[in-house]
Amino acid sequence: MGLLAQGTALDWPDAKKQAHLVRAWGIKQLLEIWNRAKGKERDAMLWGDEVEYLVVTYSKEDPKVLLSLRQADILEALANDQSLAAKGGGVPDIQGDVASRTDDPFPVFHPEFGRFMLEATPGKPWGIEFKELLNVEPDMKLRRRIAKDHMLPTEFPITLTTFPRLGSPGVFTDPAYPVSGPKLRSQFVPDEIANPHIRFPTLAANIRSRRGCKVQVNVPVFRDEKTPWPWKDPTVNYDLHQWPEDDDVRTGGAAPDNFIHMDAMAFGMGSCCLQITFQAKNITEGRQMYDQLSPLGPILLALTAATPIYKGFLADTDVRWNQISKAVDDRTAEELGDKPLQNDRWRIPKSRYASNSTYISTDARLRPEYMDPNLVIDEAIKQELEEGGMDSRLATHFAHLFIRDPIVIFAEDLETLDLSKTDHFENIQSTNWQHMRFKPPPADNSIGWRVEFRPMEIQMTDYENAAFAVFMVLITRAILSFDLNFYIPIAKVDANMETAHARDAVLDRKFYFRRNLFPARPPRRAASASSSGANTPVGPGSRPATPPAGPVEDEYRLMSVNEIINGTAYEARSSSGAQQEQQPSDEGDEFFPGLIPIVESYLDSVNVDVLTRCRLATYLDLIRMRASGELCTAAAWIRAFVATHPAYARDSVVSDEITKDLVAAVIAIGESEQAGRGWAAAGVPGLERFLGPFRRGAA
Ligand code: ADP
Ligand code: MG
Ligand code: MG
Ligand code: MG
Ligand code: MG
Ligand code: MG
Repeated sequence: MGLLAQGTALDWPDAKKQAHLVRAWGIKQLLEIWNRAKGKERDAMLWGDEVEYLVVTYSKEDPKVLLSLRQADILEALANDQSLAAKGGGVPDIQGDVASRTDDPFPVFHPEFGRFMLEATPGKPWGIEFKELLNVEPDMKLRRRIAKDHMLPTEFPITLTTFPRLGSPGVFTDPAYPVSGPKLRSQFVPDEIANPHIRFPTLAANIRSRRGCKVQVNVPVFRDEKTPWPWKDPTVNYDLHQWPEDDDVRTGGAAPDNFIHMDAMAFGMGSCCLQITFQAKNITEGRQMYDQLSPLGPILLALTAATPIYKGFLADTDVRWNQISKAVDDRTAEELGDKPLQNDRWRIPKSRYASNSTYISTDARLRPEYMDPNLVIDEAIKQELEEGGMDSRLATHFAHLFIRDPIVIFAEDLETLDLSKTDHFENIQSTNWQHMRFKPPPADNSIGWRVEFRPMEIQMTDYENAAFAVFMVLITRAILSFDLNFYIPIAKVDANMETAHARDAVLDRKFYFRRNLFPARPPRRAASASSSGANTPVGPGSRPATPPAGPVEDEYRLMSVNEIINGTAYEARSSSGAQQEQQPSDEGDEFFPGLIPIVESYLDSVNVDVLTRCRLATYLDLIRMRASGELCTAAAWIRAFVATHPAYARDSVVSDEITKDLVAAVIAIGESEQAGRGWAAAGVPGLERFLGPFRRGAA
């Protein structure tokens, strides 16, 4: 995110008038980057992760755990130390089994939407070497340790996706503020919940204003034995008369039965995720990675599920995605299709935070049938991009992103068009929150074309976060090395994204997935090509010119996450050591190799020393066991923690008391991880099922 420019942020009515100018200038800036960078070659295979934290105030004595709103002070303390470190001051060392990287740059800490949030990225991106993958977990631990060192003794950085009692009645922030402020107009959270930098409250206020009512973030409540049914969210205040928007719940049907009702951007953008950015060697490879990683999004969302609680209630969903989508949905009634089109240009089927709507690669295997039939684009922008030299497919991608209005506009930026900057382009680009992001080089062209993988939920431990980061890096390498083909229609990726929300989707649901990932053999070489399988040596140059044209529907089928990740031949080992057979699939016993076996074939095909390989295995094993159900997701573990808590009344309510104990457990797990003692030392129930046999620590 970098430094946030200051300036005069326009309120919505004024911003709306300038939207066209921002788009026009943004497109000119994009063409400038495109022309400068389209021929960029041989950029290094770098990558980097982003970890987001909640900051909580916790002490044994206090009956409540709260969100700390000291983000600005913490960031300032970190920035001061960062400059000390730059002058040769020490980066704090770290104990236990954790290596220190004192010769590396200080990690980068970033502000986030929530004033209770923090983001940390490595001091410099990770390189291509396999050994480097082993530095990720220690570096994540180091980042967490440095963050903690710049907090009060009672403050802790934790990696729960959401704070269980955000927006619950009574106090949940430190310090406390009254709800129903002018920017958010939320009846559940105060304006002070958002980062006070003018960009963030403006973002929230202008989304609300553009839409014409507050955002409606409704999540189905989990129905437990004693949950009253139909269930009416008992925290909704029907008697508030502070803002016109307060009518939303009275007359607008904003709070339907059986849903937890939330009404502000903070309920979505206050969630923490794990993102991975890859640099491609050139734009062609970047476009390929963008497309090929896209169908993996929903699978990794289901695997990382960690969000079962909202506003003090158990939800009937396991992940954060749709809540963020709704929390920043600025579409008007016309765009939503609730009113006939009069003032707006289009009906728009998705929120600006949603699963991908485009494929962009030049790959001949990309069939027109995979494209989104409902894609909305700005034809004039597409034409301008094409006239500027961009090919139609990429022009379509950006002409789709540019159907959105810029939400935050600073008056100062509208004085002159500066083609040596990308600010107007980034304004639109970075408020299109799709599950993949195609990142062009910056204005100075100093780095390459990058692709960001954005759907994963943050995990409680750095071991898990490192495991998912490492898995994504390895599968990306396998994609490039074997020229894998994950294409399915975008509509099926969208459907999978919905499927990923279900409780325990990882075990109970099936996802559309491509049957044959391996490149079709070019007709002439068919006879000499080796048999199919992960070791098929296929270079990037050997793509067939024309894909075989069977019906698209035959190319994919429904699979469980276990089949997708582990393959149909996988036999899980139960804790007793006995082998359990994979559940046969509905579609018969059609063979599918599985992503982990493919990654292993890839590792077999390159030179990795034994020690590195063994350590990588402990990461792949976590993914494998989450997919097979040998281990449970964070969402399942949290549900079990609540269900077995003595104060839980089987009525879906997650009280302050339960929340405090849950956060205490998360802190204890984090502290034993930091100390290199492994999770067993945390003394928290149920961790064997959740974190597995790895990092158990010394008995
Ligand atoms: P954003 O919030 O816009 O996604 P951040 O700067 O927070 O961007 O994070 C970007 C991630 O990309 C970080 O992990 C960073 O280390 C990584 N990164 C930076 N430069 C490169 C590069 N040239 N190639 C790949 N990754 C990079
Ligand atoms: Mg970031
Ligand atoms: Mg960001
Ligand atoms: Mg972030
Ligand atoms: Mg975020
Ligand atoms: Mg990011």
